[in-house]
Amino acid sequence: MQADQVIGSTCPYCGVGCQVSLNIKDEHILRVEAPFDAAPNYGRLCVKGRFGLDYVHHQSRLKAPLIRHTPQPPGQRSPARYPDDWHEATWDEALDLVVRRLLELRWQHGPDSITANACAKATNEDNYLLQKYVRGVLGTNNVDHCTRLCHAGSVAALQLAIGSSAMSNAIAEMKNLECFIVTGSNTTENHPVIGTFLKEAVHQNGAQLIVVDPRQIEMTRFAHLWLRQRPGTDTALFNAMANVILKENLYDEEFIAARTEGFEEYAQSLQGKTPEWAAEITGVPAEDIRAAARIYARAKAAAIYWGMGISQSTHGTDNALTLVNLALLCGHVGRPGTGLNPLRGQNNVQGCSDAGGMPNVYTAYQPVTDPQVRLKFEKAWHTCLSHQPGLTTTEMVDGILTGRVKGWYVMGENPLMSEPDLNHARQAIQHLEFFVAQDIFFNETNVYADVILPAASFAEKDGTFTNSDRRVQRIRKAIPAPGQARADWEIVSELARRSITRICQAADEHTDSPSADMDRVICHSSEQMLAEWIYAHPSEIWEEMRSVTPDFYGITYQRIDQEGGVHWPCPTLDHPGSPYLFAKSFPRGRGKFWPVAYGTDSELPDDEYPFTLSTGRLLYHWHGGTLSRASALTDIWPECTVEMHPQDAGHLSLQTGDWVDVSSRRGAITARLLVTGRSPQGTVFIPFHFVEAAANVLTDLRLDERAKIPDYKVCAVRIAKATAAPIRPGAETPLTQRGTIKDPTAP
Ligand code: SF4
Repeated sequence: MQADQVIGSTCPYCGVGCQVSLNIKDEHILRVEAPFDAAPNYGRLCVKGRFGLDYVHHQSRLKAPLIRHTPQPPGQRSPARYPDDWHEATWDEALDLVVRRLLELRWQHGPDSITANACAKATNEDNYLLQKYVRGVLGTNNVDHCTRLCHAGSVAALQLAIGSSAMSNAIAEMKNLECFIVTGSNTTENHPVIGTFLKEAVHQNGAQLIVVDPRQIEMTRFAHLWLRQRPGTDTALFNAMANVILKENLYDEEFIAARTEGFEEYAQSLQGKTPEWAAEITGVPAEDIRAAARIYARAKAAAIYWGMGISQSTHGTDNALTLVNLALLCGHVGRPGTGLNPLRGQNNVQGCSDAGGMPNVYTAYQPVTDPQVRLKFEKAWHTCLSHQPGLTTTEMVDGILTGRVKGWYVMGENPLMSEPDLNHARQAIQHLEFFVAQDIFFNETNVYADVILPAASFAEKDGTFTNSDRRVQRIRKAIPAPGQARADWEIVSELARRSITRICQAADEHTDSPSADMDRVICHSSEQMLAEWIYAHPSEIWEEMRSVTPDFYGITYQRIDQEGGVHWPCPTLDHPGSPYLFAKSFPRGRGKFWPVAYGTDSELPDDEYPFTLSTGRLLYHWHGGTLSRASALTDIWPECTVEMHPQDAGHLSLQTGDWVDVSSRRGAITARLLVTGRSPQGTVFIPFHFVEAAANVLTDLRLDERAKIPDYKVCAVRIAKATAAPIRPGAETPLTQRGTIKDPTAP
């Protein structure tokens, strides 16, 4: 069938940021193709990008603002059902209610009683405006997003060691690699198109690949060496590799002298961390550790790629630090084909962080605690700003429980699928005084909200996403949004204007409030603020964002349209952009070695809970499943599976297809067993996409102290054959609610 038009955009699933051609017919996405001449994917797409975008047409898209009939008293908030508990409202009605309730909390309990989630699936422009609203109008730095739950350990480590947490290499360099390590990343399922480039590097160009992973992922079939460490023992293994490199004089003395600090202390810390010592801890043969160290150190250029298997741990920062130490030791950074590359998960998790969707930084990591930076933003936004870093997402949940947080604004995220120990998070959310959510679907979290604001999907708006290798790329409006749904940036700018007006109208009534000083500043500059909060198009938001962000200054919509995308840092209009980083220096000056001791705070298996649970993603689904399970992909992989090693299954007399109860100290789920040698003996793997068997009911609240990231990769569980199959998987879930919403297009 012939399309009416073909619109170029960016895939909304993962951080690879594949360029897509949306073939549009009668305001529907007829098919999805990929241009062969466009980076980063050059015609390649995975199953999600090719066949998983039909969710935008799903009958249960939110089409009108919804207000809950009955107020929810703190402590007794419960999930609502559609349509019984909601009524459709006008935008005026819904926005006025949101403004009134948020400002009441702000006046009564202070700005820090409100928190907000930015959204790693929304555009840079959407997120820039959300954090600007939270900081510049509400008056708090309580804004964070799901990066906290996926790569906070990597971010913390990279900031400590080199001062920048972005991927240091472009995707385009991958197929020409000479040597690389992949660890904690099931690349072919989680970043499938990157997986194809990495396989090409090995198969066609003879690159040497070392895979370090407890699971037998597809990349192990391409590896020269596969080190299968016990879950949670990464630091011991990488320290032992460094020990070999030191002992055999394979390190780069010149690089260490010119570009690093802390080497002596680090070298001292490696004494005794021999391959034999690590073999005891990790289960990896000492000779394999030696071989891996020699391959990596002797390569002229070598890169490291890692995923959430490294960062989602109580020692996620330490794990990532051991990788940075290795790269500094061998001088494998600052040149093409070398570098440190945390593969980012969500399509715009890089951009959401870049746009200031974090509690301690404005755009491009400019700290809220720096008076000069703060002054710059105060002048640009005509307001006054808090110097106090805000709460992280995990701290927000605890803050609700302790009464510190009263109001929550969630833009496009689903914490009740993604937080660890979901029963704890569900208990917390019941205590909110006011809860507003903005989304394209009902999800497990927003059914608790007082107000739901319907948002446009990626195909229904303009803007930019920044992919995992820092490439700023366009999305373009291809179809109209359903019903009354609006782009996130439109909703937030309307909220901001209404809030500013309301603050000025009522400031005299709140002169004793904790926000009185800020109110005076806002009233004084309200005319400028109101004018500045009018945006005709996201390009105007980008223009404002680049004007306050030196790293983005050289990137314009015109350039992105002409060049397809631009890598930041790009400080001037004639700068070509930066496909790889750190050629001459690191943002913190010298790279710093950090000694890391082996130890674990994870919940380890015992007699009562004898298995280790590791959670992760599947090729056919995406994160909380909100999008992929509303697409054709759900027919391919319809239900949750528990991966178990054949010997463990044999001991428990279980076989593939059995229903099993999986329980931890936090809760229990029932799911289908899949017997496979992919997971090592003693470890089970459960994907976290399925609400009817939500893996995070089982996971643990323990956090990495520095990064505040939870331990999603190691906790203790028990497995038993289920006495009965679940009566109806999905019962009581918003997915089932979706099915109950009448399709307005049906006859
Ligand atoms: Fe989309 Fe990622 Fe697949 Fe590319 S690799 S098509 S960005 S999900």
